[in-house]
Amino acid sequence: MSRAPRVGVLSLQGDFALHSAALRDAGAEPVRVSLPEHLEGLEALILPGGESSTMLRLLDSTGLRGPVERFVRERPVLGTCAGLLLLARDADRLPYPTLGVLDISARRNAWGRQVHSFTANVDIEAPGGELSGVFIRAPRITRVGRGVQVVARLGREAVGVRQGRIAALTFHPELTPDRRLHTWFLRDVAGLGVAASR
Ligand code: GLN
Repeated sequence: MSRAPRVGVLSLQGDFALHSAALRDAGAEPVRVSLPEHLEGLEALILPGGESSTMLRLLDSTGLRGPVERFVRERPVLGTCAGLLLLARDADRLPYPTLGVLDISARRNAWGRQVHSFTANVDIEAPGGELSGVFIRAPRITRVGRGVQVVARLGREAVGVRQGRIAALTFHPELTPDRRLHTWFLRDVAGLGVAASR
């Protein structure tokens, strides 16, 4: 059997542990990334949910911003929730520059004060069907650029997008036991051979 592909999870802050578990379930070998040298030899990277402003500050203070920026310009990347904000061309209400590689605009904490978190059925196009999406103080996608495909919808609203080898979701696929989106990212977006264990 071939070796499981090594996939990084940015592990400065946020829910990197659950993404690592989900990657393992989906047939990859998760690697925690908290220093520039951890990026060496990785096939793909996940930017998890958390607090986008804190993550961007930590990217600067750890010296990871440059290496992560170079990685996401060349290699497959999945951003979830705060990770989507990091990838977006512009993010409203975020006082730091983003990595800017994904041609969408997003608005941080956009579901209002009353509803910070909720679970709802999301229509997913790429892996097919519906899944339960957990939205935690989630951003909203306010503009989708021309080269960007909508891959997940909540009603009429885009909640998941793909631009070539860059994918991003406003919700948290690692918080539910359904591994279809991690498998889709590894196989379809990143083009990696994985044998999913569940
Ligand atoms: N509200 C967070 C932010 O602005 C994102 C929330 C999340 O990742 N669950 O960064």
